[in-house]
Amino acid sequence: METNRFRSTIKSLTAFKDIINVHCPNCNEKASLHRKFEDYRSYRDHYEFRCNNCHAEVKEMKKFIYSVDRNCPFCPAVINYRSLPTSKIKKEIEVTCNDCKERICYTPKVESVYDWKFKGENIEFTYWFSERFKGEMFWAVNEEHLIYLEDFISAKQRQRSKENYGMMLVDKLPQFIKDKKNRDELLKLILKLKNK
Ligand SMILES: [Zn+2]
Ligand SMILES: [Zn+2]
Repeated sequence: METNRFRSTIKSLTAFKDIINVHCPNCNEKASLHRKFEDYRSYRDHYEFRCNNCHAEVKEMKKFIYSVDRNCPFCPAVINYRSLPTSKIKKEIEVTCNDCKERICYTPKVESVYDWKFKGENIEFTYWFSERFKGEMFWAVNEEHLIYLEDFISAKQRQRSKENYGMMLVDKLPQFIKDKKNRDELLKLILKLKNK
């Protein structure tokens, strides 16, 4: 690949995120998260966990964070309250003013957050295609993303498309990936991850 040019119009990692490969929290084999499309274009898409090796049950749990940001009706203080994530559904919450100690009920602002649960514990996934590289973390969400990175790293000419304005995904790549002196080692690492 001596004369190749890298051209991509991909703007965001979201383009790759229909399937995310992770280590199964149960058997450590290659598992995947599949984007569910009923909430397509929502800020935070939902995923379904699948491990074809052990069929572990890993569930995404929805939780809520309630917050209040108001002027206290009894004194000049501002009430700033933010709850811990909870699965309880609340229409109203009672907050206490830090200054005058009055207790007031408000309709809170509600934010949803999602936790992955396995055997009753919160867990975090690690990407299947990931490995430490000179103190940094090299990772790809899936094979397609890995090949995109490989194409970028191996390209002699890394041009961005002239018809496209704004930030492209390549513009957001970390410096160690753009650094040409890491090229050969990164390509070796990618090959290793591909054969994992
Ligand atoms: Zn498994
Ligand atoms: Zn007050």
